[in-house]
Amino acid sequence: MSRPRPDAGPRAGTEAGTETATETGTEAGTEAGWDPVRLAEVAQRHGTPVHVLDAQRLDRAAEHLLDVLGGLGRPARAYYSVKTNYLPYLMRRLAARGLGADVVSGYELEAALAAGFDPAAMVFNGPVKTDAELATAVRHGVRVNIDGEQEIEALEAIAARTGQRVEVGVRISPGLPVSTSTDPSYRAQAERAAARTRFGWPAGSPQLASLVDRIAASPHLALRAVHAHLSSQIVHEDLMLRALERVLDEAAALHHRFGLSEVNIGGGFGVPGIRRPRVGPQGALAALRGESAVPDEEPFLDIARLLKELDGQMQRRGLDGVALACEPGRWLVSDVMAMVTRVMSRKELPEARWLILDAGNNVAPWNGTGEVHRLTPIGRPYAAEHSTWSVAGPLCYENDVHAAATELPDDLRPGDLLCLHDTGAYSLGRSNNFIRTRAAVVALDADAEELVWRAETGADVFALADPRTPDPAPGTP
Ligand SMILES: *Cc1c(COP(=O)(O)O)cnc(C)c1O
Repeated sequence: MSRPRPDAGPRAGTEAGTETATETGTEAGTEAGWDPVRLAEVAQRHGTPVHVLDAQRLDRAAEHLLDVLGGLGRPARAYYSVKTNYLPYLMRRLAARGLGADVVSGYELEAALAAGFDPAAMVFNGPVKTDAELATAVRHGVRVNIDGEQEIEALEAIAARTGQRVEVGVRISPGLPVSTSTDPSYRAQAERAAARTRFGWPAGSPQLASLVDRIAASPHLALRAVHAHLSSQIVHEDLMLRALERVLDEAAALHHRFGLSEVNIGGGFGVPGIRRPRVGPQGALAALRGESAVPDEEPFLDIARLLKELDGQMQRRGLDGVALACEPGRWLVSDVMAMVTRVMSRKELPEARWLILDAGNNVAPWNGTGEVHRLTPIGRPYAAEHSTWSVAGPLCYENDVHAAATELPDDLRPGDLLCLHDTGAYSLGRSNNFIRTRAAVVALDADAEELVWRAETGADVFALADPRTPDPAPGTP
């Protein structure tokens, strides 16, 4: 039942610091289910760098999730996290399959409505929601999960004006870390960050109790949901369960008092195609000294087991009949997109051997998390001999590096194509036009091929300098 785990292939060691690292597979792009010939054809027709989206893979991921939820024996629903990838083609496809949407801003709200998500199956989350955004949400019947205290007053005013009774949720934080490492300094940082998080209100705290009392005292608001969202790329299932138990304890108490309709555990489900460095300052210092540590074995998160376990935990706490909701982003879309990029330059210097690609951090923007993505050569047969390369993007700044050191064929040269894997999550929405413009997305659906997001041009960028460009962004007052 669980999603098949792709063969992870050989893994490069993770880099300390902020550089993006990349690992290489041996089987020229095929091992992750992509047809290298087809990828090369897309690059030929549309240029590089270009994202390729596999629509059927997206459908399969959505179906798998809905199967798991449908098998729980309690009402269960999934809200797709729009910020993870707001491509309209992708959102329409998920909406048509019956998924709901999780939005965290006014413009995401408008985009999700336009993509056809049922507003009754949408939630509005996030630490800041403007009065205008809240009014739009209430008008469409989108549930608001309260995070900032000021939202209570704003929602009460909106509801009083329209004479509605508005059902709301409240965001709770468990205060426990959901990732771990053999590096004790990493664990200390993770604990501190979880205890200090600004998202949500700590379970069991007097601050949460007083927020709940304020909602209860509000004549037009009804507290009906509990929301949590712990982190992203979570792979330590037992830590996630331990943290969510605190949220469920709080939910059980609130259910007793108010009668909840939903417990929403958020997203964050990790995928096997990405590795995050789990290194703290201690590990970074050891790496600088050349004491290379063996990277921790990365566990695999089984969402079927996780959701089943949570269902049982809810049952034991008397939360029968209450819906179990989740908000996956990355888990649904990470491996449904890959990027084809071209080698533009090969430089063999006394102290380094560089391959410079046309895809930079502006279109593969994960150097903040140090994520490791696989990079496989495609487009022609390559020499069996591999050697160590440093791989960079085309941007004129130091940090545009995909891998400080990775194994790739010896005979890679300008014009060759590489497939950068798992580009479906946090690429499109986080990409920018620093030095180079943003990439196109081409969708493949069986034999069909469709350009679903065109590449940005310089004219697109500078259109913003034209004062006549219509401006009011949806959701601004
Ligand atoms: C970002 C986000 C998600 C999705 O996170 P993933 O790690 O992509 O699954 C879900 N819920 C909320 C509130 C978020 O902010």
